[in-house]
Amino acid sequence: MIIAIDGPAASGKGTLGKRLAAHYGLRHLDTGLIYRAVAKAVLDRGARPDDPVAAVSAARALDPSSFDEATLKTHAVGEAASIVSAIPELRAVLVDFQRDFAAQPPGAVLDGRDIGTVICPDADVKIYVTAAPEARARRRVAEYKAQGRDIDEATVLADIHKRDKRDSNRAAAPLRQAADAHLLDTTHLGIDATIRAAIDIVEAVRAGRGRG
Ligand code: C5P
Repeated sequence: MIIAIDGPAASGKGTLGKRLAAHYGLRHLDTGLIYRAVAKAVLDRGARPDDPVAAVSAARALDPSSFDEATLKTHAVGEAASIVSAIPELRAVLVDFQRDFAAQPPGAVLDGRDIGTVICPDADVKIYVTAAPEARARRRVAEYKAQGRDIDEATVLADIHKRDKRDSNRAAAPLRQAADAHLLDTTHLGIDATIRAAIDIVEAVRAGRGRG
């Protein structure tokens, strides 16, 4: 089974992806980490995040087994990731790795921006997770606080608006809900309720298939 989860920044896709994968015994790929790793490598080389040559060369040298979430999940790397990820040549280089990951048995949960639309258009289940920008900003601030970092909520909210706009308006694989994706709005849901709602979606899709 392949489950595709897409949604905007800080919508809770990563946690949902991890927990759904554990629930169904599937492998999990947080594709945002790939774009973040490319962005960090580009910055570390002193290049600009909108430089296609630097981005493609960083992507070819990528080693996903060495990804360190703590250094990749920072605010600055997220911003740079949103810029590198608009480069079509970079996205093209990363397609095969993501599709190969999804194709390995017993299946996988992939989360990102274009999983249901571009990477796995035939996924068994597609979920589009979203939440009001204010709710997403509050969650991000709580995450940063838990890591001992103090960051102003208004700044985070402004960045979320900026990132939503950039991710949705780019020409290459923009963030959008696939026509056959199930919408899951988590504005008023905690993480456990979100997982339950997602499992309900998966089970409903499976039951529907069984009848058909
Ligand atoms: O999900 P996360 O915030 O870690 O992703 C960082 C950035 O990487 C996003 O803002 C988005 O621009 C980009 N991304 C993407 N396609 C994906 C996953 C992430 O363009 N499949």
